[in-house]
Amino acid sequence: MEAVKPRTVEEFLKLVAKGKAKSPFFYDGDIFCPRCGEPWDRKGFMDDFSEEEYKRLVRGEGCPTCYRVKSIGLKNLRE
Ligand SMILES: [Zn+2]
Repeated sequence: MEAVKPRTVEEFLKLVAKGKAKSPFFYDGDIFCPRCGEPWDRKGFMDDFSEEEYKRLVRGEGCPTCYRVKSIGLKNLRE
């Protein structure tokens, strides 16, 4: 099976919405998260990411925003 390779940000975000984005998408110096579509520029991941978080993003397992969104969601469930 041939892997789907998006060529534009829009194509990538459509794959994310369908849950079919398998790896991070590199575009114009940014890395787009395969789970939530969040774009990270070089400054963002150099300043804000731990080494472990960077490895996790490159493996396609999500960015810090994915995990932050999750905890906000759980908090909202209590109301
Ligand atoms: Zn993410």
